[in-house]
Amino acid sequence: MTTNDEFEDVAARLDHYLLEHKQRRTVERKEILRQIYLIDGHFTATMLHELMQGHFQVSLATVYNSLDLFTKLDIIVRHQFSTDVVEYERFSRNQTHHHRVCTECGTVKEFSDVKMRRAINNREFPSFHTTHFSLYLYGVCKKCQKKRGFRKKKM
Ligand SMILES: [Zn+2]
Ligand SMILES: [Zn+2]
Repeated sequence: MTTNDEFEDVAARLDHYLLEHKQRRTVERKEILRQIYLIDGHFTATMLHELMQGHFQVSLATVYNSLDLFTKLDIIVRHQFSTDVVEYERFSRNQTHHHRVCTECGTVKEFSDVKMRRAINNREFPSFHTTHFSLYLYGVCKKCQKKRGFRKKKM
């Protein structure tokens, strides 16, 4: 599926939801969604808002409201890598990736791991059906290790 196909798919899902819940299908929401599909990777609400300013006027409050709704609908996923910043990214169940977070400088790197995925998929819980998973690894990045003279410690 191309990104555009994906966008059309998700836009249809959003329309369907808004219709079902008798909410207005505002142009704003669709434009915000379109902008999200033009971004590669993580973004914040203000970043998204700024990106839209050039071609579509929308309030920051509407951006926040829409992001909450998109999160609820599994269109995007919300991350809080540090205490002060909330980030988002598009959600895809088939392309699960995980994040390595540096607790010193806040740098976030993505990774995926087939072995880990298999291990989780093989882990059965008697009263729980797993649909997807996401991991955060916290530690110190290479740059910060050098800067602060960290020595590698085993967990
Ligand atoms: Zn770092
Ligand atoms: Zn990510």
